[in-house]
Amino acid sequence: VRRNPGELEFHQAVAEVLESLDPVVRKHPEYVDAEIIRRLCEPERQIIFRVPWLDDHGRVHLNRGFRVEFNSALGPYKGGLRFHPTVYGGIVKFLGFEQIFKNSLTGLPIGGGKGGSDFDPKGRSAAEIMRFCQSFMTELYRHLGEHTDVPAGDIGVGGREIGYLFGQYKRITNRYESGVLTGKGLTWGGSQVRTEATGYGVVFFTQEMLRTRGESLDGKRVVVSGSGNVAIYAIEKVQQLGGTVVACSDSSGYVVDPAGIDLDLLKHVKGEQRGRVSDYATARGGSAQFVAGGSVWDVPCEIALPCATQNELDADAATALIAGGVQAVAEGANMPVTPEAVRRFSEAGVLFAPGKAANAGGVATSALEMQQNASRDSWSFEHTEARLQEIMQSIHDRCLATAEEYDSPGNYVAGANIEGFKRVADAMLALGVI
Ligand code: NDP
Repeated sequence: VRRNPGELEFHQAVAEVLESLDPVVRKHPEYVDAEIIRRLCEPERQIIFRVPWLDDHGRVHLNRGFRVEFNSALGPYKGGLRFHPTVYGGIVKFLGFEQIFKNSLTGLPIGGGKGGSDFDPKGRSAAEIMRFCQSFMTELYRHLGEHTDVPAGDIGVGGREIGYLFGQYKRITNRYESGVLTGKGLTWGGSQVRTEATGYGVVFFTQEMLRTRGESLDGKRVVVSGSGNVAIYAIEKVQQLGGTVVACSDSSGYVVDPAGIDLDLLKHVKGEQRGRVSDYATARGGSAQFVAGGSVWDVPCEIALPCATQNELDADAATALIAGGVQAVAEGANMPVTPEAVRRFSEAGVLFAPGKAANAGGVATSALEMQQNASRDSWSFEHTEARLQEIMQSIHDRCLATAEEYDSPGNYVAGANIEGFKRVADAMLALGVI
């Protein structure tokens, strides 16, 4: 805390991981001797830079850009870029730290990193977004490369932004280096299923958790927070598996739709219209109701999938969900559930999946995109989705087995932290003190 003052989310993420690692370091003194934990908590490199850009009226704006290259023991740094006004060093570091373990859990050769800017894309024209992305990449390009650092999207960065970023990278370097960014469009090096992967993966993971209790998603009421990339494809997969999504949200409120969210309409409102969930409620009419402000977690359900942002589901929300009969909670977003809320779920016997395991499908499919780019190949939707499902099952099973091995049966938090840590720690030991 003294070394990283004010980086609250980073402290929270580190504390949560270290709490799980006690039994591991007791069993493996070699990790202690090699100072693995202290080295893991210190990013290999942090880049902070100025991003000046012109709005449509010719006015100059200034934002701050970040890239934290946290750990490359397993492969090139890999992790998304977030454009949101709340972005500062503590957010980028918490996300980068989580990313190390998540990427390790996928079993694929990718290190951990994260980046972004305090730029607010809301209300900006496409031309302004493009100029911002070009300015951002004009500094960042020198730190990237398919063997060095490979960013992707996150909050505020979708296919459009990845396109502008890739275009500027290509222009500056004069290289069509497809593997330098993931989340690309299908006609210019992207992978099938990447757009859907995080949301689909969360639901595959939830399905595996439910299976351990002889349950399934069929007939379950589900609440999903957010209405961005992760939320929309979580909703899609829940519906395909027979569940009903009765509510979703954005930062202005939530919509309750007891008949089930009309996904085509939601995609239209959020996509082409770049609208809000309140616009969805108006367009849907009938039973759909928009609630301004308030907590989406007040809506009773059996399954809760927080897919918006960090610390969005606190102890009160957990209490409301438990009272409403929740059976399973899986984090689609990164660290959306506060530590106290996790404790309440655990005490109430609610299945709980941490983001670094449950939302790893996005980055896993990014690694599949890198594989396709490296071999100049493109796989079918069915093949790629089958790979994603296999990866999510494997992450689930290894988390469960590791939790059992370290005397915390059924504790996916411990399982994910320990399993993710061990693979990175062993690679760091092998590579020496570097
Ligand atoms: P999007 O920008 O597509 O969507 C974000 C959604 O969350 C929007 O509905 C947004 O509402 C809402 N939201 C964002 N910030 C806040 C806030 N402070 N309070 C309330 N609501 C908020 O982002 P993604 O769907 O890509 O990302 C969502 C989460 O999933 C993040 O935690 C991200 O790190 C995580 N994640 C994403 C992956 C991916 O592949 N995209 C991979 C793994 C994790 P509004 O429009 O009102 O801001």
